[in-house]
Amino acid sequence: MTISKMKIQELLMDNSDHECEGIGPDKVCVHIAGIADLPSQFGDFQIVAFYNNRDDKEHAAIIKGDICGAEDVPVRVHSECLTGDALGSLRCDCRNQLEEALKAIGKMEKGIVLYLRQEGRGIGLTNKIRAYGLQDYGFDTVDANLALGFRDDERDYSVAAHMLFSLEVKSIQLMTNNPKKINDLTKYGVKVTRRIPHIIPPNEHNKFYLETKASKSGHMIDFHGKQHLKEQDDRPILEGMTETQIAAIQEN
Ligand SMILES: [Zn+2]
Ligand SMILES: [Zn+2]
Repeated sequence: MTISKMKIQELLMDNSDHECEGIGPDKVCVHIAGIADLPSQFGDFQIVAFYNNRDDKEHAAIIKGDICGAEDVPVRVHSECLTGDALGSLRCDCRNQLEEALKAIGKMEKGIVLYLRQEGRGIGLTNKIRAYGLQDYGFDTVDANLALGFRDDERDYSVAAHMLFSLEVKSIQLMTNNPKKINDLTKYGVKVTRRIPHIIPPNEHNKFYLETKASKSGHMIDFHGKQHLKEQDDRPILEGMTETQIAAIQEN
């Protein structure tokens, strides 16, 4: 089951002139602008493109099954990371996280990966690369961001909430290891019925998480001596992590 052709037409029609007072501190308003099939190596999905009326940003929902009007829909929220998602950068584990989320949801009857265009924890690509540059000279990730004039985390989940409303999802199960993320969505009116822990097997690129200690803001130092930027709001739990490591993940 996918979103039917008839429902797609209805969503596009209803969204064509959508304007609302907006959600969250920035009064975000998005509307569905396009829907298409997206067969992928991780499963057969549909992709929904969202357009933001206020800041011209485009966001995407990668959808498995017919989620319109559905309850308890498994949802993973992923923030865009060009260097990780597309280029396979090992300065973060975003691609690994995204792939594992798509694989997991691809196997489910229904589910959604919300792909938010908030690169570099909301500071944008240019500033993220400048922060990386500062790290190369010994700043840690938090100090590098602060040096550029940003808070440690500039993200906001009002976009995610609005996307779920636009898709007419009634309630969700949030795929996260950070229980606090449930509050971020519920404060914008999303009904979260359950938390699904995101647990994935270790591989050659992420296994250093098993060998290092959590440091400031949950950042991890890898075997190259580079600090990994925690670009996603929550990391998956790797099979084999200690209780301390899992607790560190859930704290930040
Ligand atoms: Zn709106
Ligand atoms: Zn990344």
